[in-house]
Amino acid sequence: MPSRKFADGEVVMGRWPGSVLYYEVQVTSYDDVAHLYTVKYKDGTELALKESDIRSQSSFKHRKSQSSSSSPSRRSSSRSRSRSRSPGRPAKGRRRSASQSREPKEDKKKPSQETSIALPKPSENNTKRYNGEPESTEKNATSCIILEQKLKPDLEIKRVLEQYSLRSRKDDKKKEEIYSEKKTFVAVKPIEKVSTKTKEMEFGGRIGTFMLMLVLPATVFYLLLMCKQDDPSLLNLPPLPALESLWDWRVFGVILLWFFLQAAFYLLPIGKVVEGLPLASGRRLQYRINGFYAFILTAAAIGALLYFEFELHDLYDELVQFAVAAAAFALALSVYLYVRSLRAPEEELAPGGNSGYFIYDFFTGHELNPRIGSFDLKYFCELRPGLIGWVVINLAMLLAEMKIHNLSVPSLSMILVNSFQLLYVVDALWNEEAVLTTMDITHDGFGFMLAFGDLVWVPFVYSLQAFYLVGHPTTISWPVAAAITVLNCIGYYIFRSANSQKNNFRRNPADPKLANLKFIPTATGKGLLVTGWWGFVRHPNYLGDIIMALAWSLPCGFNHILPYFYVIYFICLLVHREARDEHHCKQKYGLAWERYCQRVPYRIFPYIY
Ligand code: NDP
Repeated sequence: MPSRKFADGEVVMGRWPGSVLYYEVQVTSYDDVAHLYTVKYKDGTELALKESDIRSQSSFKHRKSQSSSSSPSRRSSSRSRSRSRSPGRPAKGRRRSASQSREPKEDKKKPSQETSIALPKPSENNTKRYNGEPESTEKNATSCIILEQKLKPDLEIKRVLEQYSLRSRKDDKKKEEIYSEKKTFVAVKPIEKVSTKTKEMEFGGRIGTFMLMLVLPATVFYLLLMCKQDDPSLLNLPPLPALESLWDWRVFGVILLWFFLQAAFYLLPIGKVVEGLPLASGRRLQYRINGFYAFILTAAAIGALLYFEFELHDLYDELVQFAVAAAAFALALSVYLYVRSLRAPEEELAPGGNSGYFIYDFFTGHELNPRIGSFDLKYFCELRPGLIGWVVINLAMLLAEMKIHNLSVPSLSMILVNSFQLLYVVDALWNEEAVLTTMDITHDGFGFMLAFGDLVWVPFVYSLQAFYLVGHPTTISWPVAAAITVLNCIGYYIFRSANSQKNNFRRNPADPKLANLKFIPTATGKGLLVTGWWGFVRHPNYLGDIIMALAWSLPCGFNHILPYFYVIYFICLLVHREARDEHHCKQKYGLAWERYCQRVPYRIFPYIY
């Protein structure tokens, strides 16, 4: 008996993930183990679909004839109905709306052109045709302009968004009629999960991720040992410390205490609770936003310790032991995460960390949102223990500098490094909600990569400049300090406004603050901003982040390359991350993404890359 219903090369109708719309697709392969078909949409997008998300073309034709034959009157008006069935096509009444009457006359003359171009049409209109938005844009060279909708407040913005959104439209009777016709043709089912099986492995696959698991911890220790040397030149390799000197149970206890203290702050019932972006299942998780309060409480606790003359500066001498203890903790956490992920339901696995290969899934993270009750482990680790820990380490380095060099005030370089990085951390915590739309939360699973990154790499590598300055004092003049400060402010401004623009747009596209922005609609119902920061380069937030990274290194002078490790590594990280994101977006948005890339050709650096 054949285990599959559709053959390779067969042209069938495939459901678009997260929607009730079906498009013409071609079956390219079948995975016997996962029972998934790889199908290719006409815009080149390839997806893995379950058999239940695929239908033969004939079943569509059959249903169509049934529906139209059920009522003669229906049949007689089928043409006009089929035109109005497209959610993108405004109903006649709507065309006369006040908002539309403001549109230029030329636009009014061809509303049908606009709508036929703009929207993915449900397959009942024409089962033979690929009826997604991308094809129609291919047909019309001017479509890009037509597709870009200027966001306008109030009613008009709602109209525009509804027009391009695939969400159900409960509040509009006319639109409901349109929708119900669709129901007669394609049964509207609750959104089912899309298969999360990982087809393409990143980071060099199994070998690459295995190597990274060795290289990342080694790099942290190399950098910390180098920084302690009088001459931290790259070729002046540090002597390896005795193994027993690296481990201290007391230090490990402090790391545990720190982690659980931050966890206790996270659990405090203060701060609002918000919903994350919809998961593949359509469900939204709830997150408590109280990172900034956790920071204030931590600052109060550290202040109290200093008041009672706790010697925080000792951290300078024990930083390597702390890094070892944090790495051990991150490893243990990763093991726990992987073990528990084996019992997680398929739809809760990360799309990028479900390859079936232990090493790869362990590294990239198997489960997307591991939670203990309402305690979200990934979300917690993203911004709390590591990020706040980084600020505490910086403060300890500032105190160590004063103590070791007998200073009554810290050096200007140390003040700049501490202030810039403090601003970055406070900003992240103040805008904690924005993390919910980042790749780490929406796409990447929680495994070794994020656990080690959040708990070890961030606090111990990002504090390298402050650590360096303790052993290698650097004097900078006030004008130089002022110039570096301006650079940091420019970077921060770009970073913050770009992130806020995208975050606000994703959370509430109808936000009046975004009224002057344009976007390209996509078949998923989400838009892609093409003006504002996201029309300047494709990742303006990365540009701002990199400018800031440079400003953090400059106060360390030019004697050694070590304090510039951060900016060099960060450029590599963000260029790679940008490529990953491009790949995901291309898969998600198909031709709409290509149009965006044509419209905004530079990825991170204007006129360069
Ligand atoms: P982004 O916040 O840049 O999110 C990328 C997503 O934004 C895409 O997947 C897409 O998701 C959406 N998007 C892309 N283009 C558009 C557009 N034109 N209009 C609307 N939405 C668009 O990704 P990251 O998570 O990588 O970065 C978040 C922040 O964190 C950045 O500022 C980055 O610099 C910083 N960062 C810092 C690190 C550090 O170590 N200090 C490390 C990594 C990141 P969708 O369409 O699905 O919404």
